[in-house]
Amino acid sequence: SRPTASQEKRVVVAAPRGYCAGVDRAVITVEQALETYGSPVYVRKQIVHNKHVVSDLEAKGAVFVEELVEVPEGAMVVFSAHGVSPMVHAEAAERNLRTIDATCPLVTKVHNEAKRFARQDLEILLIGHAGHEEVEGTAGEAPEHITLVQSPEEAAALEVKDPSRLAWLSQTTLSVDETLETVHKLRERFPLLMDPPSDDICYATSNRQAAIKQIAAGSDLVIVVGSANSSNTVRLVDVALEAGAAAAYRVDDASEIDEAWLEGVTQVGITSGASVPDDLVEGVLAHLTERGFPVAVEERLTEENLVFALPKELRRDLRRDV
Ligand code: SF4
Repeated sequence: SRPTASQEKRVVVAAPRGYCAGVDRAVITVEQALETYGSPVYVRKQIVHNKHVVSDLEAKGAVFVEELVEVPEGAMVVFSAHGVSPMVHAEAAERNLRTIDATCPLVTKVHNEAKRFARQDLEILLIGHAGHEEVEGTAGEAPEHITLVQSPEEAAALEVKDPSRLAWLSQTTLSVDETLETVHKLRERFPLLMDPPSDDICYATSNRQAAIKQIAAGSDLVIVVGSANSSNTVRLVDVALEAGAAAAYRVDDASEIDEAWLEGVTQVGITSGASVPDDLVEGVLAHLTERGFPVAVEERLTEENLVFALPKELRRDLRRDV
């Protein structure tokens, strides 16, 4: 007999999802650098936090390193989308490295805000996760002025130098809701806290969270495609669960889907982090249709049209057609 409407399986894929303007630019930067200067092009840290993207670029001749000491004197090195501290630029100059800075312009914006607040001699409460490359880069702009705040709980317990001389900034890829909660806690305790001139959580992070929120409540299962070290990807799992998904899991690709997750599931919601190429999502959708799920429908929250120009060092050499 025909299943009733409520039992009919559905696959709903969120939009916007996947690549943001900063990731697109960073990946194209490495590809163009390889074409323009030839292999090897060194890249400090993962250019974007996705293991498939990194291994594809490796296959094309990119060499990923953790620190600049691994790059031979005089070689070409690309800085990743997450940004670097001024110390890294200084080290590159000292070792005569040729650099291309693929830092996302929306991360650079936060660096500039940190520098401005530091010049005003404010203590900067940086909301973010310890050890994340973006946080290390931003904190490096004003190490003396920055205090890391990792959660609403930390905000509640925080000791500051002078409650009348405070400003806050954040990592670009946090949970929008949790960050609001953290700021709320901080402001309760420190009413004179100054805001950044505009939101630090980027458009891509907030759009992807809002899009999966729409779908999550009606889903028995949400699958988030992306890598474990991708901050915005991991936040999408948290957001889906908070918005009411019965279960939510992160996978790097379709091969990581556990068959048990699909048992008794009517609606599957799908999204992907800002560093995820859409063919990995296509792979997940194909995996589901092979298991009797219908073709996915897309629910689009909003359009994204932002495109960033390539780094200026690269544009200069592309013009010269080296
Ligand atoms: Fe830039 Fe946001 Fe993409 Fe990060 S997630 S690269 S800040 S647009």
